[in-house]
Amino acid sequence: MNNIPYKTYLTEDEMPKAWYNLRADMINKPAPLLNPGTLKPMTAEELAPVFCDELVKQELDDTTAYFDIPDEVFNFYKMYRPAPLVRAYCLEEKLKTPAKIFYKFEGNNTSGSHKLNSAIAQAYYAKKQGLKGVTTETGAGQWGTALSMACSYMDLDCKVYMVKVSYEQKPFRREVMRTYGASVTPSPSMSTEVGKKILEAHPGTTGSLGCAISEAVEVATTTEGYRYVLGSVLNQVLLHQSIIGLETEAALNKYGIKPDIVIGCAGGGSNLGGLIAPFMRDKIKGIHDARIIAVEPSSCPSLTRGKYAYDFCDTGMVCPLAKMYTLGSNYIPAPNHAGGLRYHGMSSTLSQLYDDGLMEAVSVPQTKVFEAAEMFARIEGILPAPESSHAIKVAIDEALKCKETGEEKTIVFGLTGTGYFDMYAYEAFHDKTMEDYIPTDAEIAASLASLPNV
Ligand SMILES: *Cc1c(COP(=O)(O)O)cnc(C)c1O
Repeated sequence: MNNIPYKTYLTEDEMPKAWYNLRADMINKPAPLLNPGTLKPMTAEELAPVFCDELVKQELDDTTAYFDIPDEVFNFYKMYRPAPLVRAYCLEEKLKTPAKIFYKFEGNNTSGSHKLNSAIAQAYYAKKQGLKGVTTETGAGQWGTALSMACSYMDLDCKVYMVKVSYEQKPFRREVMRTYGASVTPSPSMSTEVGKKILEAHPGTTGSLGCAISEAVEVATTTEGYRYVLGSVLNQVLLHQSIIGLETEAALNKYGIKPDIVIGCAGGGSNLGGLIAPFMRDKIKGIHDARIIAVEPSSCPSLTRGKYAYDFCDTGMVCPLAKMYTLGSNYIPAPNHAGGLRYHGMSSTLSQLYDDGLMEAVSVPQTKVFEAAEMFARIEGILPAPESSHAIKVAIDEALKCKETGEEKTIVFGLTGTGYFDMYAYEAFHDKTMEDYIPTDAEIAASLASLPNV
């Protein structure tokens, strides 16, 4: 096992040709989306005004295990995939651990994260349906950036509602989006009914993801030839992100390795859902029992401290209800944190797996995350995104446990992206002004009190 190269790339022929739908193999299926008016499961007809037809099919399909990757999407993937599976020899040596550490690096594209894997699929299906464009929200900007790249490739219009505080504080990602032709509006805005309402109720608000979702959905459903697309949480996004796990599995198979521990950061759950898909399949089928660990920030602990219940996906309450581990749709996490992990809920698939005891979850405070990030940058060279660094932190912790016990476990973690646009966070860490905000039980209980009665 020590002959393994530092980086393993699949050849084009070895790259997966189909996405894997873990739901097909789950014994307890994730709970369906509900219509907030009737409380009945959303039908394809009800979802059609919001989402592209082909994506609605993928969203509602709990039985088809494999979906062919369309040629156009595969060709786009070839521009930045396969992503390397890296054996973290330098980190192992530094930690003096007998553990074998691997990471799957998804930051090798201009958008800087795994989000492009689903953005290109969603843009493709929108184009195929003959649509003019798509709308979406973005927080820190990773998803908006990925989607604007995908839309420009597919020649689609792209309207992004960007959380106002990020719009103002992260001008560089905004300009990357505009470079790829997207229009970027700070949210809440006066250009939508829901935005006007939110601004009336909370003048001077700097916005939230839930609020930007409401605006993007309103524009999609009221503009001819437009649909809404979402970068995480949904089943369809986990499906597209399975490319991460399938490539990882194929690379490990070259050496006959099955991982003992698989670790990923969890915001809405898409990279983790994608990374673990084949390993969770093996676990469910009794083929190989890996430990699977979701890592979330202490400031937004939906799995570790939230409630498994139906909740709104957005603040404006225009979206369907999803059953998930949630902190309540009004939950506003501390403002200074890793943008991509600040969503109040968790994908319904991961929520069900967690509730079934098939997955573990831990939460970590951000100064510890940045200690791990800086250590990783110095040892392995890559400057990691704050989100990804949550997984690094727990991978290091597990490797250090192996050092104590002498176990040669194989640890695989997802390195979802790079952190070049997050240097204010690094600055706060270096200047020691970064705080570890951990919500009190009372704060979480207050937010959970607004859960809908289902
Ligand atoms: C968005 C993002 C995440 C979190 O999103 P998931 O849907 O939970 O995967 C993690 N890492 C990076 C770099 C991101 O941009």
